[in-house]
Order: sequence, then structure tokens, then C-alpha cells
Amino acid sequence: MYKVHLKPGKEESLKRFHPWIFSGAIAHIDGEPEEGEVVEVYTAKKEFIAKGHFQIGSIAVRVLTFNQDENIDNDFWTWKLQTAFDMRRSIGLTDNANNNTYRLVHGEGDNLPGLVIDIYARTAVMQAHSAGMHLDRMHIAEALSQVMEGRIDNIYYKSETTLPFKADLYPENGFLKGGSSDNVATEYGLKFHIDWLKGQKTGFFVDQRENRSLLERYAQGRAVLNMFCYTGGFSVYAMRGGARLVHSVDSSAKAIDLTNKNMELNFPGDTRHTAYAEDAFKYLDRMGDQYDLIILDPPAFAKHRDALRNALQGYRKLNSKAFEKIKPGGILFTFSCSQAVSKENFRTAVFTAAAMSGRSVRILHQLTQPADHPVNIYHPEGEYLKGLVLYVE
Ligand code: SAH
Repeated sequence: MYKVHLKPGKEESLKRFHPWIFSGAIAHIDGEPEEGEVVEVYTAKKEFIAKGHFQIGSIAVRVLTFNQDENIDNDFWTWKLQTAFDMRRSIGLTDNANNNTYRLVHGEGDNLPGLVIDIYARTAVMQAHSAGMHLDRMHIAEALSQVMEGRIDNIYYKSETTLPFKADLYPENGFLKGGSSDNVATEYGLKFHIDWLKGQKTGFFVDQRENRSLLERYAQGRAVLNMFCYTGGFSVYAMRGGARLVHSVDSSAKAIDLTNKNMELNFPGDTRHTAYAEDAFKYLDRMGDQYDLIILDPPAFAKHRDALRNALQGYRKLNSKAFEKIKPGGILFTFSCSQAVSKENFRTAVFTAAAMSGRSVRILHQLTQPADHPVNIYHPEGEYLKGLVLYVE
């Protein structure tokens, strides 16, 4: 196995179990590992410190274990996936007749950096974000079949857009096991078509489940605007919560089709709902003041640190428009899923927008990602989803 040697002192974060090694921390490498290969990492004092997947880029090693005796073999993958499964089972997610949509593996949060696995009824959708997870995909699929024996029939691999291009991996999306076209999954009793073939992420935003459920509690009798609706998740919950009317908006025509399909699946023929394919800013400018419950769940405005300033301006502008138009006594659910935007940054952007509008605004809830998207305490950056529920007078 190739050995990566760190510069003096660069092992400090690893001693605190942080799972990444940046390329700048490396003094030299014995030999030339291929991207995705497992390498051993040593301190400047030649002490073993970690083992992980090597990759060319700013994060050079993603740690899989801090134990020198642990081999990255079939037993390793089975053990890791079993640990992830046991956690979901212990919090009541795996055997719930009312809900068969959940995240089984959440990257660093499950000590498996670079790997995501979502469960949709009897299909697991697996996504690699690192070259190493891509190379190990068949071993992982094998372990997944074993751990989920009797619970899933299909494993779909969806990594065409999540792997670094430069690594020349040419991943192809497709089934590693089974091959069903039945793609309807249930979330808290509501049905959704999951577009794992073409959809964003693994086909659905599993991470908004608890926040959608909270929204349902506030929907009764309200006029709801679900901006950036994608699959219409929040809209369907608002309908069940007894909203007076629900308008879903997304700039993507495909998202609007999906929203309409999901609405038909749950509330066929219900005329309270209308979906519009339109740009968010245009819609917010032209709309009236009829809404008293607004959801803003935009895509990540900042994918990287250097885009932070523009992103914060984006959040400020977007939220300003909602504060300008929302009815007195209205409730705003506003989110940021950019990892590069901190909770404080996001709050500042939203509070600035509120202050500019001159409205009196109170925080009802501070939201984040659900328990099946756990945050590894040694990798606090993993807390990416931030939300505020605000009462606007
Ligand atoms: N709220 C959704 C997830 C939103 S993902 C859920 O619960 O599942 C972000 C969505 O924003 C995508 O569907 C994308 O098509 C849409 N989008 C991106 N830019 C947009 C814009 N300028 N105006 C409207 N929608 C936009």
C-alpha cells in the first residue's frame, strides 16, 4: 500500500478525527498511487495515523479508518453499512409502514466520506462523490445487498455528475442489482415519484422530510407559495395540511411536470394547486400579496467559498422580496443548503432583508437536516442545511 507522509504538525486535525487530509499537508508520497486507491498516512515522526481513499485535488485523502489493523475489504464495508443501518433502525426509520424514504449513508456523517445511499421503497440509490468510492462500488453494493437483505431488490448507481471529471473515471449510471422501473416511494404517508434516472441528487431531497412535515402543521387555511418546488414536496404536504391554495414555482419545466405528477398521485383533481414554470425573481416581482405562507428553498447559491459574497447577496435579495409581499401574520420558511454559507452568514442575510423591509419579524423555528443526515462531531462542516421559520407581522 502506498504511504503518504505529512508535514510536521499536520496530523493535529487527524488526532481529532477530522476525516480529510488536504494536499497542502502532505510532505511527500512514496510512489504514485492511482486516484481512488487506498493509501496509508504517516506523521512526520513516521507514526501511522490513518488510511483512506487517495485523490488528486484539494482534499487528497478521505479517511476510512484511524486503525492500522483495519483492512478496507468486504468485512469493512459490511460493518460500516451495518452500523449506518442500525442507527436508522434505532431511530425508527427502517420499519415504518408510513415512510420508506430515508438516507442510509450520509458521507462523513457516517464515517464514509464520499458515499451517499438513499433508500426509496425497495430501491437503494447509491452515489459516489470520490474516486475511491467509485472504484469500490461493487464491494459496497455487495455489502449493501447483504445488510439490506429482504428489504431492497434494486441498487441504482448514480454518479455521472458527482465525480471529478479530471479523474477519467467515466462512471455510467445504471443498476448494479435488480432493475425496477417502479419508482414510487412513500414519505410520511405521501407518495412521490423518485426520478433517480434524471433527477437532481439521488432523485429526491430526502433532507427536507422533517421540515416539510413541520410546514404541514402551519398550512391550514393558508395561501401557500412553494418557491423552488422541484418535486413539489412542500406543496403536497401543504395540501394535506389543509391549505386554501398552493402555488408551486420552479424555473425547470421538468420540475413542474414532476410536481404535477406528484400532486396527481396524492390529490387527484384537487383544484387548490397550480404549478408555474418561471424564474423565481420574476415571479416574486410580478406576484401580488395573496400569500401568507411562503417557502424559499433555493439551490446552493455558493458551491465554493469564493462565491460566498454573491451567495449572501442572493439570499438577501430573495428574502427581501418575500418580506415585501407576504401578508401580515404570514409565515416564511426560508432555507440555505450551501455548505459554504454558515448558519451565522445565512441569518445575517435574512435578518438584513427583514430589517430593510421594515416588518416586525420573529423566529418561530430554527431548522436543520434530519437525523438520517447526521453530523459527525469531528466534521462540523457536515451541517449544511439551515432553515428559519419566521412570523412576519
Ligand atoms: N424544495 C425542493 C428542493 C429544491 S431544489 C424539495 O423540497 O424537494 C432547487 C430547485 O430550484 C430546483 O428544482 C431548480 O430547478 C430550481 N431553480 C434553480 N434556479 C431557479 C430560479 N432562478 N428560479 C426558479 N427556480 C429555480
